[in-house]
Amino acid sequence: MHCREFRTALSARLDGEEPPPGLSGPVLDAHLLGCVECRGWGERARRLKLLTAGLG
Ligand SMILES: [Zn+2]
Repeated sequence: MHCREFRTALSARLDGEEPPPGLSGPVLDAHLLGCVECRGWGERARRLKLLTAGLG
């Protein structure tokens, strides 16, 4: 499985959406534990979301 797929799942979780099939929370968390790049990506996505949350 590619990082891109995990990032799709991570983005869905940040948005409060259903995760893609086969990429539920524990699966995603296991990847994040081992993949520093996806952890960093998730942090940026989360911060961006916080920044834009009040603008809608
Ligand atoms: Zn990754």
